Amino acid sequence: MIQTIRGFRDILPGDTALWQTIEKTASQLFEDFGFQEIRLPVIEKTELFARSIGEVTDIVEKEMYTFPDRKGTNITLRPEATASVVRSYIQHKMYAADPIKKLYTIGPMFRRERPQKGRYRQFYQINAEVFGISSPFIDAQLILMLNELFKRLGLTDLTAHINSLGCPECRPTFHQALLDFLTKKKDRLCSNCTRRMDKNPLRTLDCKVPECREALKEAPTTLDHLCGGCSDHFDTVKTTLEKQGVDFIVDKTLVRGLDYYSRTAFEIQTTALGAQSAVAGGGRYDALVKELDGPEMPAIGFAIGFDRLAEVMEQLKGPGKVKAPDLFIIPLGERAMEKAYLWSSKLNLKGVRSETDYAGKSLKALMKRADKLGAGHVLIAGDKELDENALVLRDMKTRDQTTVPSDDPIDNIIKILTDKGTIRD
Ligand code: AMP
Repeated sequence: MIQTIRGFRDILPGDTALWQTIEKTASQLFEDFGFQEIRLPVIEKTELFARSIGEVTDIVEKEMYTFPDRKGTNITLRPEATASVVRSYIQHKMYAADPIKKLYTIGPMFRRERPQKGRYRQFYQINAEVFGISSPFIDAQLILMLNELFKRLGLTDLTAHINSLGCPECRPTFHQALLDFLTKKKDRLCSNCTRRMDKNPLRTLDCKVPECREALKEAPTTLDHLCGGCSDHFDTVKTTLEKQGVDFIVDKTLVRGLDYYSRTAFEIQTTALGAQSAVAGGGRYDALVKELDGPEMPAIGFAIGFDRLAEVMEQLKGPGKVKAPDLFIIPLGERAMEKAYLWSSKLNLKGVRSETDYAGKSLKALMKRADKLGAGHVLIAGDKELDENALVLRDMKTRDQTTVPSDDPIDNIIKILTDKGTIRD
């Protein structure tokens, strides 16, 4: 038997109802905020990620699925979406007519991490990105939007963590202060941190090794080194969130795992999956568009971890609702079988969830099946009912029965089900 590759999984029909709810709620909300959907390829040139995410990061150093295609070009299964959205924004000169663009995208990402609960090698994200607005109001608006999405999905046990990572103006002094600190603590740090500290000292603050965490407790923070512009920007983000009633925690340890962020960084964290973990994360990346050969362009975005969000929701609320049929047509005999199939298809085309039988089973067996599927009504069509031009429509809940003519049952059925309000969304 051939099975999925380690770290890869199927999202089964029992789970997809919940996934669809999340997807619908998110896209509706994002569109209300002026976002448009964009669909992107899952494979890009490796260079795109190496240049944007940063060479000295976990993703680029260890986690990317990179391989040469048949012509020898190095290609990579995308580990995140922001780089691709930026590539597309530049490639299609989306800034030409109006630099302001609000885009969202939903799809799979690939990282070769150690698989565990809530961590997969193919996982899904919902991304939203805003180009062309440098105002801190937009930073607050994205966090507000995330907060609202989780509220609409019925999640409460979540906290927004925010930090500011500074900008090219204030970062050098911070880097120097951090480097001085790290040099003093060098013998207490893991080999990964000592290797990275010269090239990318910020990454050490992200290290999960407990000894490093302990050694870095007193490390200098970006917040202590912000320039005037970054400091004002961060203050406005905080006061705006307060005015809009969004709770948050200022988290000096939040540095995010990618290089391109500047100024505001944020994560939505939950304890519902055991240890503290992030269901969404994002931040400003004002230098990235230029870095990838586009114009100077402020930008900010976030990614929601779809898999984790679905897991948290399932834990809190149980699995999503499976859509039961509105109607199950029970054909009894050859003659009825074809009619049942044609009626059922017609009803499907008119938006009614109708099912029927194709195997010529008995009334008893089919009543049982309709019950098991949770059908709202059954329509009994045997030779007798056809001869008498009177099909029996039975409400599975109340057991009430009515008859509908067999020469034209469709409109009658739709009218009865609609009047009773039993055609469900
Ligand atoms: P990141 O791009 O690393 O900031 O990730 C954004 C969100 O994607 C995280 O907050 C997680 O919820 C989710 N995520 C990241 N990596 C994985 C993974 N390997 N498996 C499942 N979800 C992930």
